[in-house]
Amino acid sequence: MPEQIPDDLGGVGRGWHPLLLELHEDLRALIPDYRVTQVKEKYGTLRVYLVSGLLRGPYLETGTLPSEEESKRMAWQDRQASRLVHAAEERSGTICEACGAPGEPRKGAWIKTLCDTCHGQRPRRPARPAR
Ligand SMILES: [Zn+2]
Repeated sequence: MPEQIPDDLGGVGRGWHPLLLELHEDLRALIPDYRVTQVKEKYGTLRVYLVSGLLRGPYLETGTLPSEEESKRMAWQDRQASRLVHAAEERSGTICEACGAPGEPRKGAWIKTLCDTCHGQRPRRPARPAR
């Protein structure tokens, strides 16, 4: 199970890795022990799923609930974190997933955000997996 973004970069192209590492730094500044459940590409853009609320722990493990003050602080952190995530997801629609150059979502057998060069190299139909 992934812990933080750098542990789960394999699911998306290297063109988005700098964007993801920047998001990781921003999230760590907000919630040093933040956790992700998944980092992936969907419909051409990035998706980052964060662990939020009481699932952030240690509350579930210990059976102790946070104080009201702590709950408010955590809810605020979760809101800020999802803003950061949404901003990065939006930016991914302008960055080639393959190489990191400026790109845009391209239609095809499936939608991918790519620059002109990488889009030009794309096969017209998905290649059959090699056996
Ligand atoms: Zn490219």
